[in-house]
Amino acid sequence: MSEKRDYYEVLGVSRDATKDELKSTYRKLAIKYHPDKNPGNKEAEEKFKEASEAYSVLSDDQKRQLYNQYGHKGLEGSNFSTNVNFEDIFSGFGNIFEEFFGFNSSGGRGGGGGARVQRGADLRYDMTLEFMEAAFGIDREIDIRKYDVCDICNGNGCKEGTQPEVCSQCHGTGQFVQSQGFFKVKTTCPYCRGKGRSIPNPCSKCVGSGRMEITKRVAVKIPGGVDTGAKLRLTGEGEASMSGGPPGDLYVFIQVKPHKFFRREGSDIICVADISFIQAALGDEITLPTLQGEKNLEIPKGTQYGDTFRLKGEGIPSLRTGRRGDQIVQVNVKTPTGLSKKQEKLLQEFDRLDANKITNRLKSLFKGL
Ligand SMILES: [Zn+2]
Ligand SMILES: [Zn+2]
Repeated sequence: MSEKRDYYEVLGVSRDATKDELKSTYRKLAIKYHPDKNPGNKEAEEKFKEASEAYSVLSDDQKRQLYNQYGHKGLEGSNFSTNVNFEDIFSGFGNIFEEFFGFNSSGGRGGGGGARVQRGADLRYDMTLEFMEAAFGIDREIDIRKYDVCDICNGNGCKEGTQPEVCSQCHGTGQFVQSQGFFKVKTTCPYCRGKGRSIPNPCSKCVGSGRMEITKRVAVKIPGGVDTGAKLRLTGEGEASMSGGPPGDLYVFIQVKPHKFFRREGSDIICVADISFIQAALGDEITLPTLQGEKNLEIPKGTQYGDTFRLKGEGIPSLRTGRRGDQIVQVNVKTPTGLSKKQEKLLQEFDRLDANKITNRLKSLFKGL
């Protein structure tokens, strides 16, 4: 720079401007000339530095007094440096930015200028599993229809060799701030929809949106032990952000089909086994299906309808511990039908021999009531 401009002139304020006036005019200039919003623009960068330097002097009472008395020379001779480090400006800017707008400065420093950066949308996929698949786990591949980052423009929405421009309506903030009495009201800029930038030459593939619809094949590892209502999260497999932020997540909602023989209760499985009244009375060994092939079960003498037996470790592995539950066998004693004459005779004979007749027991039960 050949000749240093007057600091008051740089900020466009009068010599008796208050601190609040200085702050608000600097804020406007800083937003307008911020390097994030003017990539590669040397003139804007110089203006930004110039305004920041002027503000750093005039907002400091001591420096301002020296400047008022002696001009630029007054500061040169002192210990005060007016060579403002660029990084300092950046952090100073960040503070001011947050102070005025409540923005997240890290978000503001991303590719999208001062506008808000949002995650991409989360997606939901409903998956139905067979009982056995849920019990032991399965690897599945699913096809997800979603918006991903455009592979031509890498998401900036611009034709090759061109750049997005700062939105001329909101100067890249993505918002309008209007004063209504004491209140400041923020509204999303309708021209850029809060993005803070406009695209003069849109990418031919995504037409400036920065995203394209794709079908992606995603591998999903279903752990053994999942049940209906389980949700699996696949981080980053959701949709691409519309503002340069991180992608959303994919949630796989699990639904497990019922089994014709087993019912599930946590990591235990329950089944009903039919036995004859002879087996119930005399005891027997029966064979029944488990999750992993057939197993034998000892039915003791005198088993009653509804009695339960446990096959230890024949259930479903717990998602947390990996330990398998039990198979619980509920006994259903079948009453014989279609008896032959001889069978009936034998049962009548049995009845006569039975000292502790059921009919007598029932009578005494009713007497008690
Ligand atoms: Zn705008
Ligand atoms: Zn594109």
